[in-house]
Amino acid sequence: MNILEYQNDVLTILNNSFAKNHLSHAYIFEGEKGSGLKEVAIFLAQKLLCLDNHSACGVCENCKRVSNGTHTNVILIEPIQNNIRKDQINSLIKEGHMTSLTDKSRIFIINGAEKMNRAAANSLLKFLEEPTPNNYLILLTENSNMLLETITSRAQLIRFKPINKEQLANTLHDEGIEKDVSYILSELFGSYEAAKESLKEGTIINSYDMFKKIINAMISKKDIYIEYYLNKKLLNSLNAHVWFLEILTLFKREQIRYIEKRTCRHFKELLDNLEFDSTIVNQITEQIEKINHAIEEINLKINSDLIYAGLFQSL
Ligand SMILES: [Zn+2]
Repeated sequence: MNILEYQNDVLTILNNSFAKNHLSHAYIFEGEKGSGLKEVAIFLAQKLLCLDNHSACGVCENCKRVSNGTHTNVILIEPIQNNIRKDQINSLIKEGHMTSLTDKSRIFIINGAEKMNRAAANSLLKFLEEPTPNNYLILLTENSNMLLETITSRAQLIRFKPINKEQLANTLHDEGIEKDVSYILSELFGSYEAAKESLKEGTIINSYDMFKKIINAMISKKDIYIEYYLNKKLLNSLNAHVWFLEILTLFKREQIRYIEKRTCRHFKELLDNLEFDSTIVNQITEQIEKINHAIEEINLKINSDLIYAGLFQSL
């Protein structure tokens, strides 16, 4: 399942507008993580610049340069430390006012547009108020309500179809990936491409191995901190830690379903073997909160041995 195929409705809107020469000068693409916002923005940039009759062929010189990020007519702004600052927007505006050497379109993409601070957003308004022909602005956001109303009123909003995680998990499982791993990938990465990419990179599997070691240690009533300590080389990056903790959260959520005798579809074998008191739903909810807190601490680069020493006591 290709994400562009999945968002076919959005592509149809853009293709029709292009064909009628009615493309808007500013778009807001709104959708959840992994729903293909950036992929569609790249598609639109390719379409505008493609040398093969604007087909977004993907193979011509321009299409290739757009997709590998080296086309000078496509400017992508990403948040820096979770923030888009005024100077980033100002450099975009400066670029926008420069006369293009050719009459080719220029595409400005702002990823995580809701992360613009107020000063940045106000600067962007100027850009929106004085549109230059052949300049296109695409704002990518998980939530357009977090953008200034003065911005949203000047751009066309396109909502992306949410990713159907169950469908994604099934697709991955059909390809021979273990059922629980398919589920984890669908929950953590949300898109087929991102899931496959993470498998190739490998860290997620180390996180999953650590998770299984911890639960199996619980099942055989071993000391889980020691189990962690002996295997801690599996968690050799920030992502590895965060994913390990996120898998643990998924497991805890499933444990609640298991206790409440709702359909339990994941981690069944582990849950069948784990002994626990079935009156502890509140306790598990607290554990999930503690795991979330541990994720925050990991992101703050607090010593991971310390974090786990505390967390494992409450599991
Ligand atoms: Zn092309």
